[in-house]
Amino acid sequence: MTVTIKPGCLYVVATPIGDVGDMSVRGRAVLAAVDQVAAEDTRTSAKLFDQLDLRTPLTAVHDHNEAHRVPGLIAKLQAGESLALISDAGTPLISDPGYRLIAAAHDAGIRVAPVPGPCAAIAALSVAGLASDRFHFEGFLPSRQGPRVARLSLLAEATPTLILYEAPHRIVETLEDLVATFGADRLATLAREITKTFETIKRATLAELLAWVMADSNQQRGEIVLVVAGAPERDAEDTRPLSAEAILRVLVRELPVKQAAGLAAELMGLKRNGLYDMALKLKQESDSP
Ligand code: SAM
Repeated sequence: MTVTIKPGCLYVVATPIGDVGDMSVRGRAVLAAVDQVAAEDTRTSAKLFDQLDLRTPLTAVHDHNEAHRVPGLIAKLQAGESLALISDAGTPLISDPGYRLIAAAHDAGIRVAPVPGPCAAIAALSVAGLASDRFHFEGFLPSRQGPRVARLSLLAEATPTLILYEAPHRIVETLEDLVATFGADRLATLAREITKTFETIKRATLAELLAWVMADSNQQRGEIVLVVAGAPERDAEDTRPLSAEAILRVLVRELPVKQAAGLAAELMGLKRNGLYDMALKLKQESDSP
């Protein structure tokens, strides 16, 4: 396939997440035809280029040098050179670098063109067997347990399906925290090593997934996406109890802390004092950027 490359255009090109056969024909043609390819790790991309028989010059653009590299790359694009952005695997900018470059290109009036393809989050969602009409992509959770549990507590009542990326050495801890915050019975799908030799897709409750991963250390290796069912929608007849935290979280968005704690105490028949401290904490969380 031959493509017509537009001068001064920045192409955002998805690359395989495992199986090199998933490189699109158009993606390869764009990578072959542009003047330069900005890559997250040029050594990783050099291997892909070997497999695809590509010779286009690679230049490194990663989290640590992106801010510094952007002005020079924008100047080249403005001078009419064409550039493609790739990451180590999958779709650039999806838990990968590139945001600053793309934003700067828009600011400079440079044309930005997507060349879509593999993305672990979407691949996992497509096989998860969980509602896919509305989903929330969270990416990586905080690595420390305190902030991770705080973040999961915020997400526990959300109804869209949740997509998480997780490192293999943290999968047990994260499943433990999910069981504690979302409940043992919530359905989830673990998608591991998608498109690779040891590809594993397992759908079960969070408690069952945790037991299965703990019993088999092979499940604690490789690359992992967790897709977690959203909280059930509530209707007017729903008799399931709401937690004080869930009620306060909504009230502090609209009301001063004291009033929110007072209303929650009245609604739940609880003492106001304990709720005040919780409301204060939630207010600080909701106000922080
Ligand atoms: N930009 C990539 C994408 O489009 O999916 C994601 C990059 S992010 C730095 C890497 C994470 O994506 C991994 O830690 C894992 O959670 C997930 N991932 C990437 N490839 C995967 C695969 N083949 N199977 C399962 N998860 C994968």
